[in-house]
Amino acid sequence: MVAVSYFAHWQYVFPVFKQLEREDAITNFERVAARFDEDIVDLDLQNKDWGAWDDTYEFIQGENPDYIDANLGVESFRNGQFDFLFFFDISQHLYWHGIYDSKTNALVYDGSFVQRVVDRLEDKLAQTELDLFSPDTHYTGFVLLENKPIVYSIRPILTSQETGPSMGFVLRGRYIDPSLISNFIKQTHVRFKITPVVDKAKTYNDEIVVTELDDETLEVSRYVFSYGVPVMLVESFFPRDISGQGRVAVQSALFTSILLGFLLLLALWVTLRKVVLEPVTHLTQKATAITETQDYKKRAQVETSDEIGELSRQLNKMLDVIESREASLEDVLAQLKEQSMTDALTQISNRLRFDSVSEMEWRRMQREKLPISIIMCDADYFKQYNDHYGHVEGDRCLINIAQVLNESVARPADLVARYGGEEFVILLPSTDLSGAAHLAQTVLDNISALQLPHAKSQVAPYVTVSLGIASVVPSEDNSLLQLITDADNALYQAKQNGRNTLATN
Ligand code: GH3
Ligand code: MG
Ligand code: MG
Repeated sequence: MVAVSYFAHWQYVFPVFKQLEREDAITNFERVAARFDEDIVDLDLQNKDWGAWDDTYEFIQGENPDYIDANLGVESFRNGQFDFLFFFDISQHLYWHGIYDSKTNALVYDGSFVQRVVDRLEDKLAQTELDLFSPDTHYTGFVLLENKPIVYSIRPILTSQETGPSMGFVLRGRYIDPSLISNFIKQTHVRFKITPVVDKAKTYNDEIVVTELDDETLEVSRYVFSYGVPVMLVESFFPRDISGQGRVAVQSALFTSILLGFLLLLALWVTLRKVVLEPVTHLTQKATAITETQDYKKRAQVETSDEIGELSRQLNKMLDVIESREASLEDVLAQLKEQSMTDALTQISNRLRFDSVSEMEWRRMQREKLPISIIMCDADYFKQYNDHYGHVEGDRCLINIAQVLNESVARPADLVARYGGEEFVILLPSTDLSGAAHLAQTVLDNISALQLPHAKSQVAPYVTVSLGIASVVPSEDNSLLQLITDADNALYQAKQNGRNTLATN
């Protein structure tokens, strides 16, 4: 923005100042030219007053002997501010001449000077011969005399009524000297200088030329022509105030745009930070924290109505989905775990649960120094049952036994599990041998009470079980495995004792 502003100002604004400056300089330069024109007119009107005057008319015809004393004294030259005055008679012979010498403040008479002036004006004088009879005739212009510019006027000598016939002509001239120039400078307030055109071989034109000398000064110049001949170069010098102001204007515009640009950037930065960066950072931190902690209950908190707010809401919806999936996954896992620890046939705990719970209870009893008991339970003559009633009935029977065992235990810590085949195990924490034996008796009674027919049993006409009981207070000297083995041995003993009974180890 700053670069564009800078470029635009230098390219389009600054040139307007420069253009104004040029136009201003040219206008002022033309005042100098106008002052020169006025000077010519002054000299020419003065010359006309003298030329069209009965006294001069008589003087040139040799009829006014007092004329010289009355009019052609040094005072006339000084007051009239002209440097030389020549009278020519009807046959173009020099009748009278005077040249003012400012150093001595006296008139000098120098025929060779007249000749030099006449030489310079030869062309004009040649024409004058033809035109001098016309009362309107006048010639004015600039000419160089020994490289000094002169302004001159030629007027016919007529009567005071400006009637002819012309009796000759009067030529009046003035040097454009430094004092005249300093006068002009005072009057026009324009600093200028003039340079005579010396090299005639070059070609010149009268166009106004504007040159930028430096950042401080503008030069305006033009060659002054007189009757098609270049006479002098007028060069004027102007301080470049306007472009200086333009430069200040451009610089302050640039400074303003830098300041504005900076403020805009600052505002953008603050807005971006507030609207984009902070919410996005918040979202990123939330997402990272959720991923790391896997806590899908957390939620992002961007409440804005823009795209980032929408992203936040969508993220939260996604988290809702993940959270509910997580919950159902946990349910499924719990179910699976439960299933993995449940016996598919009897729906009581299986060997896996027995192993883990028994180890846990073992350690707990060891800490609390309390007894733990195990009852191993095995259906009697069950092979025969299967053989006789079939496997489907055998399964149904096992389900019944499991149900009875489950209903027989009372405490929450007691665990009934299928140990394998038609064998079950009851884990009884905080229970001593007598308590276990008591429960075992209840089990025996409850199974018998079922009165499930068993035609092939050699101990009863209904299904019975044998129970082996072992109990111990866990310590360093015994083990869970030993306790199970003891219960197993007791079971063997019960079988040996005739089945449908219990045995303790
Ligand atoms: P004992 O009185 O000495 O225990 O004799 P038993 O026939 O019960 O013992 P044995 O170990 O000889 O036979 C166990 C039988 O239990 C073998 C099998 O037919 C039966 N059995 C084991 N698991 C299942 C089961 O899941 N379903 C069915 N229906 N029968 C089973
Ligand atoms: Mg068995
Ligand atoms: Mg058996």
